[in-house]
Amino acid sequence: MTDMIPAKMVTTIVCPICHSGLRFNEDFTKLRCTGCEKRFRVEDGIPVMLAQEAE
Ligand SMILES: [Zn+2]
Repeated sequence: MTDMIPAKMVTTIVCPICHSGLRFNEDFTKLRCTGCEKRFRVEDGIPVMLAQEAE
């Protein structure tokens, strides 16, 4: 993997529920919404952005 991950770990993806920004967790396996705090799985580097899959 050669892609650099921004130090701030902020993505351009927004929460499908409340449209707030998302942040990766420490080990980049989850995205957490900064608004409603729902968590979304990241599978093989691809976030699963489905409201019904939110934790
Ligand atoms: Zn949200």
